[in-house]
Parts: sequence; C-alpha cells; structure tokens
Amino acid sequence: MKNCIFCKILDGQIPSYKIYEDEYVYAFLDINPSTKGHTLVIPKEHVIDIYDMDEETAAKTFQAIPKIASAIKKAFNPIGLNIVNNNQKPHQVVFHYHIHLIPRYEDDSFKISFFNNEPTSEELLDIKEKIIANL
Ligand code: AMP
Ligand code: ZN
Repeated sequence: MKNCIFCKILDGQIPSYKIYEDEYVYAFLDINPSTKGHTLVIPKEHVIDIYDMDEETAAKTFQAIPKIASAIKKAFNPIGLNIVNNNQKPHQVVFHYHIHLIPRYEDDSFKISFFNNEPTSEELLDIKEKIIANL
C-alpha cells in the first residue's frame, strides 16, 4: 500500500531492525521502544486493523508470536510480556496491523491499567447477549 510506512519497511524502502521473517510475517524492533526488546509483528499483507483481518491472516500472523516471544525472553530474561494491539482510537497511529510485544522488567515505566467497572450480573448478561447476537 502506497504511503504505508510498514509496507515501505517490507519493500526495503525504509530500514528496520529485522528480527524474524517468514512467508507471511515480518517482525522488527519498535524504534520508540517502551522497554528493551519492544518488537512489532506485522502481516506482510496490508491489513489496516483487526476488523480488516480475515481468519487465515490472523492465524498466520499469530503463529509467529510464541517463537519471537520466547527469543525475547531468552535474550533479556524479562519478568513478563505484554502483547498489545491498538485498533483505531485512542492509540493506533500506524494503519498497517501490528502487534506490540512489550517485555516487562522490574520498575519499568510501561503502564496498562486494568480496573473493575463493577457491572451487575444483569448488565453482564445483557452485554454477553449483545455480543453473541453479532457473532
Ligand atoms: P500504534 O500506536 O499501535 O499504531 O504503534 C505504532 C508503533 O510503530 C509506534 O510504537 C512507533 O514507535 C512504531 N514505529 C513507527 N515507525 C516505525 C519505524 N519506521 N520502525 C519501527 N517502528 C516504528
Ligand atoms: Zn501497509
């Protein structure tokens, strides 16, 4: 896709710190890493976001992740790993689908905040039904 920065990386028009490549997937270091080893995994096919992705492309993209995650773990011995994928607002800035592998270290500054919205059981049932109705 013209004007896509990640397609330009795939084409070799823009340099990258390549970690892994196969027929379907390319993985490289994020140039603004949140932590040491922060890696992006992208499908070679230009897919905008998760809503633009078919099951086969998803399977092929995710298939590469355990191998890359394990290599990062062996390289740097992080305490954990967050796998993050931003779709549209508020955080997606590159519109070629990518998965962030963010190794975690004691006292790093990366933040993900989980909190309990405290829904009632009726609300949970209603939410469940609405999602199922759209599968
Ligand atoms: P997102 O906010 O999920 O769209 O993340 C896009 C990510 O792409 C950011 O973390 C950027 O640092 C990263 N990024 C942008 N351009 C490049 C590049 N040329 N090489 C490596 N990473 C990049
Ligand atoms: Zn692209």
